[in-house]
Amino acid sequence: MVLVGDAAHVVHPLAGQGVNLGLRDVSALLDTAGRAAESGADIGAPARLARWNRRRRSDNTVSAHAFDLIDRIYSNDAPLPVMVRGHFLGIAGRVPPLNRALWRHAAGT
Ligand SMILES: Cc1cc2nc3c(=O)[nH]c(=O)nc-3n(C[C@H](O)[C@H](O)[C@H](O)COP(=O)(O)OP(=O)(O)OC[C@H]3O[C@@H](n4cnc5c(N)ncnc54)[C@H](O)[C@@H]3O)c2cc1C
Repeated sequence: MVLVGDAAHVVHPLAGQGVNLGLRDVSALLDTAGRAAESGADIGAPARLARWNRRRRSDNTVSAHAFDLIDRIYSNDAPLPVMVRGHFLGIAGRVPPLNRALWRHAAGT
């Protein structure tokens, strides 16, 4: 049995990324199972699923922490968070490669 999507991890909804993370779990699982099937190996081998789990846990954990951090910064009106969010948004909007990288990560491409 494997858990994907919200059954495996729930993230703060502010970033609108919950569905994407679940779809990325499924896509990576299909990739893993597909490669095993091509080589005639057991698609449910524990070591294979453990590799998939590590790969997805890393993306999901980084995303969950990032969304929590964004939530903390945007729900706090102390001077430092206000300054950080103003600068961060400004920089992300003015630096096209950073802007594109954030979009690409959010889109899972
Ligand atoms: C307020 C809010 C806003 C959000 N906005 C966004 C957004 O803009 N973009 C985005 O990508 N994500 C958003 N999300 C997150 C997104 O809704 C979830 O990440 C996504 O729905 C998870 O999909 P899932 O299939 O893993 O789980 P779910 O959508 O929770 O599906 C699980 C299904 O299993 C069913 N079920 C539960 N127990 C059983 C059982 N025992 N037997 C049979 N069926 C069962 C449930 O009824 C449900 O239909 C938001 C979440 C919230 C709370």
